[in-house]
Amino acid sequence: MPHATDLSLLQLRDAIARRSLSAVEATTAYLDRIDQLNPRLNALHEVYRQRALRHAGQVDAGEITGPLAGVPVVIKDNMCTDYGHTTCSSKMLADFAAPYTATAVTRLEEAGAIVLGKSVMDEFAMGSSTEHSACGVVKNPWATDYVPGGSSGGSAAAVAGGLAPAALGSDTGGSIRQPAALTGTVGLKPTYGRVSRWGLVAFASSLDQIGTFTRDVEDAALLLGVIAGHDPLDSTSANEPVDDYLVAVTTPPPADGKLRIGLPREYLSDANHPAVATMMEEAIAAFTGTGAEVVDVSLPHTQYGIPTYYIVCTAEASSNLARYDGVRYGHRSDKAEDLIDLYSRSRAEGFGPEVKRRIMLGTYALSSGYYDAYYLRALKARRLIKGDFDAAFAKCDVILCPTTTGPAFKLGAKTDDPLTMYLNDVYTVNCNLAGLPGISLPGGLAKVDDVNLPVGLQLMGPAFAEAKLLRVAKLYQSLTEHHLQRPPVM
Ligand code: GLN
Repeated sequence: MPHATDLSLLQLRDAIARRSLSAVEATTAYLDRIDQLNPRLNALHEVYRQRALRHAGQVDAGEITGPLAGVPVVIKDNMCTDYGHTTCSSKMLADFAAPYTATAVTRLEEAGAIVLGKSVMDEFAMGSSTEHSACGVVKNPWATDYVPGGSSGGSAAAVAGGLAPAALGSDTGGSIRQPAALTGTVGLKPTYGRVSRWGLVAFASSLDQIGTFTRDVEDAALLLGVIAGHDPLDSTSANEPVDDYLVAVTTPPPADGKLRIGLPREYLSDANHPAVATMMEEAIAAFTGTGAEVVDVSLPHTQYGIPTYYIVCTAEASSNLARYDGVRYGHRSDKAEDLIDLYSRSRAEGFGPEVKRRIMLGTYALSSGYYDAYYLRALKARRLIKGDFDAAFAKCDVILCPTTTGPAFKLGAKTDDPLTMYLNDVYTVNCNLAGLPGISLPGGLAKVDDVNLPVGLQLMGPAFAEAKLLRVAKLYQSLTEHHLQRPPVM
């Protein structure tokens, strides 16, 4: 019998259902891993030990049932829970105890999942390395002097390091897919509106989407099926039927013609690391070998993605973060002399440098003299980027490209250089600007210095085509062994 922490989410669920393993044993095994490894990785900020063991006991007693009964999960610390704290890894929310629970988390718990704890992130989900955090930096389980990616770096490191079989993250411009790529995990960002954002602390509301980290595609399908669906509490959640994603990835694909994989030439840059180029060649050969047709497509406005994203997301962030005024909740300065002084001191003390940079950029882009030149133009560019994808999906079923240009970088390598840090997202932001689903899959290892670091393969699909996306992801997984590789820390 393999150890509980070696099982996939699906295997763990089935073992608990068969009673060959108890939920308390599974939860205890993961809590032990957390005790052992979290001091080295700093993936988790809060662990709900007693609560998790109590729920596991209730599963074993048959009082909690459901499709995830007894399986432990971790959630990113920007999802509100009416227990513990919801800090967004910010000093601003260091003591914040939310009065309600995010819908995605409620759905997990109603399905019987056991929440182990909350993961460290870039402050308010702004970053690509999980170094912009008031809760300390997260280390990559593959090599602890490298970043795990961000902003959901804690969730990614928790799954890669075996501290949890699965985790929730949020993806505004790549924060699930990029850390998944850099940690060798499967990261799924669903279509905008597929998963309720209710209870997710807002960064950029027109881009934010909750998704999953898992070790394989089946587990992503299982989790998405639980968290997806319309929520009356989120007016932007879509009233679209939820497919049975697990059935989609575990049964043979429907015979609906030849699979067409689109290869966007703008993503095959010379700047890609050799391991990324090799991964792409291998993937093309593997898909072609199954009889799929690989078609050349163009997304001509790709190069406008980064500037467009950083106008839209900072504009929305400046508005969303205006609520932290030191009056209603969050950090309050005790040095203030009057109301305006209270606002500015509380914000100056509570927010870290990256959050301040974004608020200033966004406020500038929205200011009356510059609105047309920046924000309005960005919206027009966003429309063109969306149009690129519409045209491409007329020629292919899914798009295949790298998730990032290369593997993880060293801790501290980019913290003083925000523009270089922003370029991490070149291959991920356009998917969010267009509201589409995307998934990053383990794509092999790159040898950097003396360590092996993962690279990620990205698939993007049309809106609400998660079933198709996951099916193609499963096909890739079945053709390679990359998802079976584990970091040395495990
Ligand atoms: N790295 C991107 C940023 O810094 C994306 C963040 C995210 O998806 N939350 O904004």
